[in-house]
Amino acid sequence: MKSEVVYLNGRFVAPDQAQVSVFDRGFLFADSVYEVIPYYRGVGFRLQQHLDRLAYSLRAVRIQADEDWAAILDELVRRNGGGNLSVYLQVSRGSAGYRTHTYDDSMRPTVFACTSPIRDIYSDGAEQIQGYNVIVTADLRWRRCDIKSTGLLPNILVLQQAREAGADEALLVRDGLLSEGTSSNLFVVKQGVIYTPKRSSEILGGTTRELILELASEAGIPYQEVDIRPEELATADEVWISSSTRGVMPVLTIDGEPVADGQKGPLWHRMFDLFTRFQHRLMTGEA
Ligand code: PLP
Repeated sequence: MKSEVVYLNGRFVAPDQAQVSVFDRGFLFADSVYEVIPYYRGVGFRLQQHLDRLAYSLRAVRIQADEDWAAILDELVRRNGGGNLSVYLQVSRGSAGYRTHTYDDSMRPTVFACTSPIRDIYSDGAEQIQGYNVIVTADLRWRRCDIKSTGLLPNILVLQQAREAGADEALLVRDGLLSEGTSSNLFVVKQGVIYTPKRSSEILGGTTRELILELASEAGIPYQEVDIRPEELATADEVWISSSTRGVMPVLTIDGEPVADGQKGPLWHRMFDLFTRFQHRLMTGEA
């Protein structure tokens, strides 16, 4: 569903009033970074963590843009009726007025944001959550996956490959190790311990990944950030993926084979419950 109001370079306008140059480097080169931030009942979920990552991505690609991001996004959400919305924010390096690979600091970044409705999965309850079916395939991306760049062609092609195989997501393998999903981080549970690939330039530092580790730590659930080989999936008790708009999701099959008994596992239920409570605290101003 479309946004009723979008934000473009200082203005809140209808989508058909928002125009960007054909020479915008976001369009020509994917020379841009982005964030996707869930809002529940009009309140940003881990907004500061998303803005910190945006600042990190901007610094990493040397785009100089400094706005009151929270004020812009809160206002955009308000103008779109509040409620449960996913906000997309993109900052590109802007346009030189012609096509050129080189850039200088005189370009003015293009800032675009729009919203789309999302489900409040935490209010829905655990029974409503559909498990994921995934495939395992090669990670074709560049080696700076810590930057949330709009250069998503490898992610898109591999997700399409998953869809055509009847799956919902693909887990990616590089140099014999699992990295993450095309738009999610990865967790493997064995004998009560949560394992997840280490933070590095090979994966995105997911805000939901961070929250899972925080909640695990508070609840005394052991976790380790380690290298994980794809062969290890076969003996996992549970596999999860995580992202902002989907939260923590159980993976039920991998390449058509069930994970353990093919059901949502007990530790996933526990983590989902911790998420639900955290979200409630956030909504009521207690977190
Ligand atoms: N990894 C990739 C490649 C992603 O695109 C995303 C989110 O879109 C994530 C991980 C999860 O990040 P977050 O939890 O901040 O949404």
